[in-house]
Amino acid sequence: MKVTLLRYTRDAELLCGTAALTSTRSGNPSEILKKMDLETAKRILSRVVGYGHVSVVEHASFTFSIEGTSRAMTHQLVRHRIASYTQQSQRYVTYDTLENYVTPLSIENNVEAKKIYDETLEKISETYQKLLSLKIPKEDARFILPNAAKTNIIVTMNARELHHFFNLRCCARAQWEIREVATEMFRQAKKATPTLFENGGPSCVGLGYCPEGKMKPPECNIEAIKKRFRTM
Ligand SMILES: Cc1cc2nc3c(=O)[nH]c(=O)nc-3n(C[C@H](O)[C@H](O)[C@H](O)COP(=O)(O)OP(=O)(O)OC[C@H]3O[C@@H](n4cnc5c(N)ncnc54)[C@H](O)[C@@H]3O)c2cc1C
Repeated sequence: MKVTLLRYTRDAELLCGTAALTSTRSGNPSEILKKMDLETAKRILSRVVGYGHVSVVEHASFTFSIEGTSRAMTHQLVRHRIASYTQQSQRYVTYDTLENYVTPLSIENNVEAKKIYDETLEKISETYQKLLSLKIPKEDARFILPNAAKTNIIVTMNARELHHFFNLRCCARAQWEIREVATEMFRQAKKATPTLFENGGPSCVGLGYCPEGKMKPPECNIEAIKKRFRTM
């Protein structure tokens, strides 16, 4: 699986800082932007976002390519509605070898499980190919394909939705594949625009508390998680 930040709003931090000042200044946004510097933007954003005026970071948007991930992952990803998606279509792509599927580590590391997993996927690929050879269209033959099927997807989110996404999906309670994707998206978004994401991460870091209650995994060490995300 590979995650790449393809594009993001130019001068995102200056732009969001300008949005934050626009609400309280009499000058117009283009004048404010011309005078804006990174230090000022950082100071204003931490103050304004700190008191809940989070909509100002919606002006920054980020587009990621997520490649070679499973349909199980993308099904969870697309539940996030404040985003735009374009996904590889199973109406056009064929699934004919084990390379077309994702294998979870729990299965990879268990010899017996790996054997039945691979055998089942090979059988699925065979049946899929057989259906195509019987002139069944790809859009119908794909009904046999599993959640393990690999796919590529482009996703665009604004910084506010990204924060929400990181709160939920960088969390230890999230499923491993979407957690890996979200954590890598966080690392790249923070590298590109540190001011917008300096306090971001799973809820325990981004919101400052764990909303999981009794569901909180016992192995969670909030101080260690905070340190990891703050220094990423
Ligand atoms: C650990 C975990 C386990 C999960 N398990 C399940 C499961 O078993 N079954 C299942 O179906 N889903 C499950 N989900 C998915 C979850 O229920 C959400 O659908 C998903 O996380 C998207 O989050 P969201 O709805 O907060 O936000 P987004 O769609 O990202 O929207 C962001 C925010 O915008 C607002 N918003 C968006 N749309 C609306 C709307 N129509 N009306 C009002 N406000 C809106 C809300 O404040 C929302 O939080 C799970 C998620 C996680 C993280």
